[in-house]
Amino acid sequence: MRIFEFIRPPDTATAIAAAAQSKTAQQGADVRFMGGGTTLIDLMKLNVEFPDRVLDINRLPLDKIDPTPDGGLKIGATVRNSDLAYHAKVQRDYSVLSQAILQGASAQIRNMATVSGNLLQRTRCVYFRDTAMPCNKREPGTGCPAITGHNRTLAILGASDHCIATNPSDMCIAMAALEATIHVQGPKGTRAIAFGDFHVLPGNTPNRETVLEPGDLITHVTLPPPITGSKQLYLKLRDRASYEFALASAAIVLTIANGNIKTARIALGGVGTKPWRSPEAEAALTGKPANDATYRQAAEAALRGAKAQSENAFKIELAKRCLTYALRTAAAS
Ligand SMILES: Cc1cc2nc3c(=O)[nH]c(=O)nc-3n(C[C@H](O)[C@H](O)[C@H](O)COP(=O)(O)OP(=O)(O)OC[C@H]3O[C@@H](n4cnc5c(N)ncnc54)[C@H](O)[C@@H]3O)c2cc1C
Ligand code: SF4
Repeated sequence: MRIFEFIRPPDTATAIAAAAQSKTAQQGADVRFMGGGTTLIDLMKLNVEFPDRVLDINRLPLDKIDPTPDGGLKIGATVRNSDLAYHAKVQRDYSVLSQAILQGASAQIRNMATVSGNLLQRTRCVYFRDTAMPCNKREPGTGCPAITGHNRTLAILGASDHCIATNPSDMCIAMAALEATIHVQGPKGTRAIAFGDFHVLPGNTPNRETVLEPGDLITHVTLPPPITGSKQLYLKLRDRASYEFALASAAIVLTIANGNIKTARIALGGVGTKPWRSPEAEAALTGKPANDATYRQAAEAALRGAKAQSENAFKIELAKRCLTYALRTAAAS
């Protein structure tokens, strides 16, 4: 294995990765990009990931946060999670993103972790990380022991008969609610992917988690112009107060006028196999009075399709209460 190759021009990085003709740019691939390494190196130590080459992308000029001409924000792929969370414009105009990042991991990890690495962090399902166990995500076709085993923290939305793993990211939940766009440079050129289209449901190919293709390098993420007067909140419920993944979380971006909800963007974390935007909750909120009855109806709508596993039925009510409380708190802010 050749590790820590430093890459400068992005097209060199994508050419090397594409030449490897791996299944995708980031899963089971021979060539892997490395941001902070807080996911990738962990998994390499566990023998879950074993790329031939690791390309360190930290010398690429992708570490800036800049305004866009339309009033939005451009966030480079290697911007550190801490730098993004404490950026003045993010704290002022996209506070849900700042809140979500700061409730994830630890200060040390946030100082290392990059935006692109966070977008592609892997599940915390215990079987995925234990090579003594079968796992469809790690080794397609071997089975999913979580379905009959330990699944307390796993997904209640978007699961399949092949995988019930939760997407663990906090940052992604806020980005889903903010309608971010992910920008990629690959062997065929550049393209922009709407946040909701980036992660894919497990279906019968849980080894594939995103629409990235061989050689695709995430270069940056853009946020649309901020919504004037929006009330934003990220609420995360977990087993302990810090350094723990969400059992349920909610990202809220609301506007309210004359006591009625004008616009609502809602995403849920800790419950879905991908960052879970809820158009059902948004429809239940839009145009309705900003009160507890409306918030609970939205929560019921958001979780209507939820399916419990043997150990995680509690998450359905927990997620409903999380969303209801987050909406009430955001509306009152
Ligand atoms: C103990 C611990 C606790 C944690 N707690 C939380 C938590 O509570 N909430 C939470 O949200 N997260 C948590 N995390 C996860 C953490 O947020 C991620 O590990 C981190 O965001 C990954 O970023 P990175 O830059 O280190 O990724 P890396 O490890 O460098 O990369 C991750 C993946 O992305 C790929 N990649 C990186 N950059 C690119 C690119 N530009 N283009 C294409 N592919 C790329 C890599 O090949 C790899 O597959 C925790 C992690 C640890 C270790
Ligand atoms: S839930 Fe997914 S990641 Fe976990 S064991 Fe099953 S297939 Fe593997």
